[in-house]
Amino acid sequence: MSHPVAVVVPTPAHSSLTGPLSYRSEFPLAPGTLVRVPLGRREVLGVVWDPPEPGDNGRQEADNKPVTAVLEGIDPLGPRWRDLVTFAANYYQRGLGEVALAALPPQLRDLSAGQLARRLKRPSGAGDGAIPAAAAEPTPEQRDALAAFEAGEGCFLLFGATGSGKTEVYLQAVQRLFAADPQAQALVMVPEINLTPQLEERFVARFGAGAVVSLHSGMTHPQRLKSWLLAHSGAARVVLGTRMAVFASMPTLKLIVVDEEHDPSYKQQEGARYSARDLAVYRGRLEGAKVLLGSATPSLESWHACDRGRYRCLEMPSRVGDAQLPTVRLVDMNLQPHKTVFSPQLLAAITERIARGEQSLVFLNRRGYAPVLACTSCDWKSECPNCSAFRVFHKIDRTLRCHHCGYTERVPRACPVCGNVDIAPVGRGTERLEESLAELLAAERRPGGEPVRIARMDADTTKLKGALESQLAQVHAGEVDVLVGTQMITKGHDFRRITLVAALNADSALFSSDFRAPERLFGLLMQAAGRAGRDAARAGGSEMWVQTWHPKHPLFTALRKHDFPAFAAQQLGEREQAAMPPFGYQALVRADARTQEAAQAFLAAAAAASVDVEAADRVTLYSPVPMSVQRVANVERAQMLVESTSRAALQRFLAGWHPVLQATREKGLIRWAVDVDPLAI
Ligand code: ADP
Ligand code: ZN
Ligand code: ZN
Repeated sequence: MSHPVAVVVPTPAHSSLTGPLSYRSEFPLAPGTLVRVPLGRREVLGVVWDPPEPGDNGRQEADNKPVTAVLEGIDPLGPRWRDLVTFAANYYQRGLGEVALAALPPQLRDLSAGQLARRLKRPSGAGDGAIPAAAAEPTPEQRDALAAFEAGEGCFLLFGATGSGKTEVYLQAVQRLFAADPQAQALVMVPEINLTPQLEERFVARFGAGAVVSLHSGMTHPQRLKSWLLAHSGAARVVLGTRMAVFASMPTLKLIVVDEEHDPSYKQQEGARYSARDLAVYRGRLEGAKVLLGSATPSLESWHACDRGRYRCLEMPSRVGDAQLPTVRLVDMNLQPHKTVFSPQLLAAITERIARGEQSLVFLNRRGYAPVLACTSCDWKSECPNCSAFRVFHKIDRTLRCHHCGYTERVPRACPVCGNVDIAPVGRGTERLEESLAELLAAERRPGGEPVRIARMDADTTKLKGALESQLAQVHAGEVDVLVGTQMITKGHDFRRITLVAALNADSALFSSDFRAPERLFGLLMQAAGRAGRDAARAGGSEMWVQTWHPKHPLFTALRKHDFPAFAAQQLGEREQAAMPPFGYQALVRADARTQEAAQAFLAAAAAASVDVEAADRVTLYSPVPMSVQRVANVERAQMLVESTSRAALQRFLAGWHPVLQATREKGLIRWAVDVDPLAI
């Protein structure tokens, strides 16, 4: 006697939108059961899916091969988890198998059933579950936010200034949940891996090591499997993680927190390009769990949802302990001598901090020494041979490195075109900034008479394991006077001795063709400002400096007043007029090909063939255009924007259009992909 079972297996991106394959099993298998099944010549991990609906003939037969093994000892994945995966696959236009399997820890895929059984036998390290009593008395604003959160339902936006104590609200919301429901689980998401250790510490201190697990891509595969199993069994009460954690299997999930909900890192940039923030909101509804989105500069999508009454807004405008937000000082670069890097005012302000034993943070969103190296006598520049981009000069190892394809070469001794030995860096990255600052501050002394200590933190200095942690520890310990870095240093860190933050080169985003650039810049600057003056005792006179060529720009006017609502109202006004998100809905189709012509021809052909697709009359297809970095690693890239004033219509159109895209052939086409709700246009 054998039973037919539908199994979701890992299949290539576009071939599998049809769903599970059918296999057979000696025993009936519950949906959600993890199995190993043959697929072609391989044996793969699969998830038993819900039996086909009567009349559903989209299911593909895989010769009805037998299931090879059942992963004993792991409970089936629950129906709501399967619903979440199904929704994500449909919404983001990817294969069910691709999304389902990517949502599971890699070792579950890679280990045989036998190996897994041995892993499961080992003591899991699951905790005592003891819940220690509460660390801090909430401030009045925290108390009001928590009371409103407890009383309400659905999705909440915690709009809290930097330093207003949002993390404490998350902690107490979780604590109250556990007090009311001893089985409940909470999922807490942060945008970046480097923010997880700090947060983990605070959660472990509150709930005990056994109750808290992390899930992020910086963990080893065995660690990830262990965390995943603890979450799946319900033993872990709190799961802390980056965007991937939104898919964690948590049978008793009752609360989802998304910290810094505006952060672009929540959007996956390859494969299924999901927004973990948006999926968290959807998952909350599926699970009947409350969702708490937190930010000092919410995404305009979430802000608008509050305006419309779909989310409840909880406001915490003040910093804990009466610390003031830093005064914003704009330096008009039009009034500075040509080629000024640090205006004298800013330098004087930094020097003053050093003399007082306080720290400053200077950020510039460009790593390396200089973005371009150029010949002074001919027009040679350090272009990447494989990309339409310049290779960045890294002085530390005298290399030219392409930040797109990774192509790296030693700096040539002389210009490769004319032989001139005088080739010079153009522009400035963090490495050069650190160097200039060291020269400018060489004569200054700390209160004890020692020289100034400058440190740099960016993707280059934190590559080695543990480097980031030790650099952060140095800053926290006060062993650094001036910290130079990329936006990496502006996010989340609770630096206590920083009283001055300076942004150099912020202007490029003001005139970007990407309509979200001002929103991102405002968020970044507010976030950076939030690093200054967090310690009330030192906060008097804390400052945020911005050097700009456009000091009258409305974005800076709002920044000076720390007035996010004014900035949001102005931006939303513009977006509404142009029917852009959140008033309209977008998708991008991207095509990679050997030539730009082929990439665009593919998109044009797919657009031409879309007229009969359902809801085609409710979407607008724009002309194909090259992507802003048109060529990467010798692949030409183009994109086409699809817009609609209705999310449902856009979804119907994309679903109907998918087979058309799949059937469209173009010589030289390498791959294509759909990005729903793209963040960068
Ligand atoms: P945010 O995430 O809103 O920027 P944090 O949660 O990091 O702010 O809190 C800022 C600082 O205030 C932290 O050092 C935190 O420990 C402290 N803090 C938060 N709430 C309280 C409170 N109720 N009483 C005393 N200190 C608090
Ligand atoms: Zn030359
Ligand atoms: Zn390159």
